[in-house]
Amino acid sequence: MVNFSPAGRPASAARIWAGLDEPWQEAFHQAWQALRTGNIAVGACASTADGKIVCSSRNRVNDSEGPPGEIFGSALAHAETNVLARLPFRSRRDLVLTTTLQPCLQCAGAIRLGPVATVRFAGPDRYWDGYHEFGKLSAREARRTQPARTGPRRDELGTFATLISRFAHLSPGYEQALRALGEGPMVDLVRELDESGEVGRLAAMNVAEGFGYLWPRLEKLARILPA
Ligand SMILES: [Zn+2]
Repeated sequence: MVNFSPAGRPASAARIWAGLDEPWQEAFHQAWQALRTGNIAVGACASTADGKIVCSSRNRVNDSEGPPGEIFGSALAHAETNVLARLPFRSRRDLVLTTTLQPCLQCAGAIRLGPVATVRFAGPDRYWDGYHEFGKLSAREARRTQPARTGPRRDELGTFATLISRFAHLSPGYEQALRALGEGPMVDLVRELDESGEVGRLAAMNVAEGFGYLWPRLEKLARILPA
């Protein structure tokens, strides 16, 4: 469990955090570790249907080393892919994959091929919206049972998950695409937090403290971002 620092943390953030089950908290811990290590802040966790954690990992695109079986230092080194890469071939196929951000094309594909019955994600990723609809690819795929999906969260925690994933890698083309998708206010906040040095200060906090610290601005963003 995370110990909160008492200063200035809105009670609502604490209440949401305390209501998360262990796989959710673990996924967010992993995302925060990615933020602290200069990677894209996304974390993921595989668990059994009754909530027992099997393994967890994070984005490692900028890492120069990683645990055996995981990808690092590559554009493919995503959190969900790294969790799934750790699972042995022919693992039981009823796992729950919990991830802080809506899976991208690559991770949605890995989830479809992996032993996953249910995907849970927190933050909406408008950039990859619709990329999990493999049933459109072929008649055979359309007949297959696809993993069940839960998400995104439409609250401040969902906004938090998307926001932190936008730190550290806003290339001009990507930023333009996000603005076109209605994420301009979030991109502006990412710039503001970076220029004010607050991203650095956030990295010195733990994830629950960071969530509480950003709460007022998340509340505002959650109101103005497109659904
Ligand atoms: Zn991905």
